[in-house]
Amino acid sequence: MPRNGTEPPRTPPPNYRGPVETPDVIVIGGGIAGASVAYELAAHRSVLLLEGESSLAMHSTGRSAATYIPGHGAVARDADFDRYVAMLGAVEEAARKAQKAGTPAAEAANSFALPPSLGEWTVFAKPFFERAFAAWYKELGA
Ligand SMILES: Cc1cc2nc3c(=O)[nH]c(=O)nc-3n(C[C@H](O)[C@H](O)[C@H](O)COP(=O)(O)OP(=O)(O)OC[C@H]3O[C@@H](n4cnc5c(N)ncnc54)[C@H](O)[C@@H]3O)c2cc1C
Repeated sequence: MPRNGTEPPRTPPPNYRGPVETPDVIVIGGGIAGASVAYELAAHRSVLLLEGESSLAMHSTGRSAATYIPGHGAVARDADFDRYVAMLGAVEEAARKAQKAGTPAAEAANSFALPPSLGEWTVFAKPFFERAFAAWYKELGA
């Protein structure tokens, strides 16, 4: 992101419209919060995103595990959190069974499917389950 507001970013975002001399909005901080706000505002306003570091996401955002956990936060709903905990329980149960049956962790994770009763999960990619099964196998001493 430009440090003086005149150089284009190395990889311009899709809605980058060129240098801004008198922006409608100035957003300070290029972590997930600032970058998201700037991105959304840029659809309707000229936006200048100021970041103190030499590139974006060098603080908390760059260190995040990038996991979306339903149920976190002030407006969390109990039902979301219950569903998340039930999902973790389903993974644990399947990992314990597979480990007992001698199935390799990667194979078990690959064939794992969440029970339809837990609804559709689009936020957990396949590697999440691979890591979760591997962690359970480690825990179980496999
Ligand atoms: C190890 C770790 C793991 C995490 N895992 C998860 C996770 O799995 N899931 C999850 O949801 N959250 C996770 N988090 C939390 C999440 O990363 C933070 O809540 C989020 O990144 C905060 O984003 P932010 O934009 O508010 O702050 P930051 O990412 O800290 O961004 C603030 C930016 O503002 C800039 N800045 C500050 N002051 C100025 C100034 N005066 N002028 C110019 N620039 C300035 C900073 O340089 C920085 O780039 C994790 C955090 C850590 C540390």
